[in-house]
Amino acid sequence: MRKIILTGDRPTGRLHLGHYVGSLRRRVALQNSGEYEKILIMIADAQALTDNFDNPEKVRQNIIEVALDYLSVGLDPSISILFVQSQISELTELTYYYLNLVSVARLYRNPTVKAEIQMRNFEASIPTGFLCYPVSQAADITAFKATTVPVGEDQLPMLEQTREIVRKFNSIYQETLVEPDVLLPENSACMRLPGTDGKAKMSKSLGNCIFLADDPEEVRQKIMNMYTDPLHLKVSDPGHVEGNTVFTYLDAFCQPRHFGEYLPEYASLDELKEHYQRGGLGDVKIKKFLNSIIQEELAPIRERRKEYEKDIGAVYDILKAGCNAARAIAQQTLNEVKAAMKINYFDDEALIQTHKEKYANGTI
Ligand code: ATP
Ligand code: MG
Repeated sequence: MRKIILTGDRPTGRLHLGHYVGSLRRRVALQNSGEYEKILIMIADAQALTDNFDNPEKVRQNIIEVALDYLSVGLDPSISILFVQSQISELTELTYYYLNLVSVARLYRNPTVKAEIQMRNFEASIPTGFLCYPVSQAADITAFKATTVPVGEDQLPMLEQTREIVRKFNSIYQETLVEPDVLLPENSACMRLPGTDGKAKMSKSLGNCIFLADDPEEVRQKIMNMYTDPLHLKVSDPGHVEGNTVFTYLDAFCQPRHFGEYLPEYASLDELKEHYQRGGLGDVKIKKFLNSIIQEELAPIRERRKEYEKDIGAVYDILKAGCNAARAIAQQTLNEVKAAMKINYFDDEALIQTHKEKYANGTI
């Protein structure tokens, strides 16, 4: 079967380490594997507007930021199609038709949407667009017949919703849409990277992020101020590694070779964890180790970003070309969807002929 990737990010801020381990790093590896027929990476501005409708300037300013982050992590526009959601009106049209296939109760049951409603204090008056954004995500995924969606764990309910819509559409109308599979990070620490404050998720909306574009000093300060184990007051105290953000980040980023390079007194992460749990290992030492690792990972990303920043016009051109390519694919799917839903009146010679005959006979 043809393998197609669709995934994306909301332009509500610059991209951060959570995006990187949850999805970006994987996308680049998949892109470079050569196994995919098409790779579509979407800047989800229409979705960002569902909870930022009163702040379009924020969304507008962040399109270029996200595009620069994409290019700087190694997404290659000669292989992957980078595009902006709102410019593909076919996606909005598909959403409208899919809305018929989903009940309001089903939307309220989505655990990610529930958590986000709470976080945004939307309980009293949820914008309908926000409640329905999982349906618009189904349109994004199916418009490109994506088979594979590499995302963080928070997106699981969206994928389930998409699969339900696909099954319902195909059974009511005719086999048209493709049921996608989710591709979660292999490493559990990457499924949902916590924020530097120890909160469950690093998220632009929570202000607890290390951004890919942060300068080395900003990164260092954020790491040195990171949440660890509140019970580990003195170096000699036994410490906890579960729920300790520094260790979660080490789980996400540390490789065996890092010990030789930055902390040769330990042979492995397990040994480091054991020492911390036993007592006698201070937070500053583990934070410095983490800082060395993160700085090494971010340095080439930052350098590539600087290169692309020199020609912003070219980055806009990349997005524009990506939009044209994406639109052509979505248009094809929309035509098939409309045909399946029998709303392709003017393309349907048989329909017109039947009606001609009906009324020709009627007048005899
Ligand atoms: P917002 O607060 O505006 O929702 P966000 O930081 O949650 O922003 P999104 O654009 O919603 O970012 O998410 C884009 C992708 O990054 C999704 O695939 C999501 O699963 C993944 N992702 C976001 N944050 C994390 C995280 N902390 N850990 C792992 N994956 C993440
Ligand atoms: Mg989000």
